[in-house]
Amino acid sequence: MGISLNSRHDSFSQFPPEQRKKKLWDPSTTLDIINPSKGCLTCVGYAPSCGRRCRNPINQANRASAYRLLEDLSYIDASTTDINAKLHQLAGLTLCLRFHQGQKNDIVKKWCRKIDQQQTASRISIDAKVDPNRIEEQLKDIEGLLAHILYKTKGADEFIFSSPTSQHYRKRYDPQSAQEERAQKQREEETRKSRERERENQQQERVKKEREEKEKKKREEEKMQKEEQQAKDREARERQERNERIRQRAEQARKESERKARELAAKEREEWDKVWLHYVLQWDDIKKKDMKGTSENLRKIIPWPVKSGDWRGVSGPAVEDFFRKAPPQTTSAEKMLAIMKMECLKWHTDRVPRMFGVIEDKNLADLFNTVAQVAIKIRAETGRQRER
Ligand SMILES: [Zn+2]
Repeated sequence: MGISLNSRHDSFSQFPPEQRKKKLWDPSTTLDIINPSKGCLTCVGYAPSCGRRCRNPINQANRASAYRLLEDLSYIDASTTDINAKLHQLAGLTLCLRFHQGQKNDIVKKWCRKIDQQQTASRISIDAKVDPNRIEEQLKDIEGLLAHILYKTKGADEFIFSSPTSQHYRKRYDPQSAQEERAQKQREEETRKSRERERENQQQERVKKEREEKEKKKREEEKMQKEEQQAKDREARERQERNERIRQRAEQARKESERKARELAAKEREEWDKVWLHYVLQWDDIKKKDMKGTSENLRKIIPWPVKSGDWRGVSGPAVEDFFRKAPPQTTSAEKMLAIMKMECLKWHTDRVPRMFGVIEDKNLADLFNTVAQVAIKIRAETGRQRER
């Protein structure tokens, strides 16, 4: 059965909650509470000895309770609600206390069967009572609703109103108003699209702005990094330049000091050259003369092998310094050895008396000895150097 018509007929079937206050059935009749042979409520038990329903009366209190319970039951949908407990209670109230309380379960079972039969009979009667007019009415309603839905969704023109009844509903959507409605719909659609476009534009604008801000930030960061790098480079360059200046100054100072040292050495060399020349020339001069005289006189005139040429400057180290530095530096080891051999002869203790006479003065003799010893030492060294 396609269409439920329950709402139009009293029945045991479902009722919407708002209709609960309506009586759904008549328990008193369905359950045969009233004893037909007495025309009033008597015990619902069965008296086997008599082969009929018990005719014992029910006391007033239980009777009243039973009627209240029956009234309650009439509002309960027996097809969907479990009324077993209530039926047991009702059986307790409607069975005589004297003989038949023991039949409670049997009575409840019998009542359940009756309720089932009643429900089945009701459904059959509903089916039998289906009103064709009512169905048509409902079909119209549905078609109208469907047409409205289709119109709302696509347009009523596409809907095929085939049956005569549906033609009636077509009239309700005359072309004029349909056109207006379509126009309205179109306007709404355009408004919606326009809003959507606006939203999309705003979205695009926002995205663009975000992208631009991101790019700007990136550019700023890059700029900052570049500046940092430039600052670092500049610092490194400055440091390098500073170091270079320091190095150049140090180089200059070194060159200056070398130059001074060279100048000093050259000056010293010049001095020694003069001293040597003077020493050689003096000795040449002395050899030509008769140089015998007093110790004091000899001390003054003899050219002593020290830088000052003065006898007071004579000492081991001073004489050694003279023999090492005074001879020309370009002199070869061979020539140097010859020089030192000459010097040894010059200052030899045997030779001195021949030139200057016997030296009585011990101090003067010591001066000669000092020079002679140093000359021998240097000569020996020079000889060893030459052999190498
Ligand atoms: Zn009874």
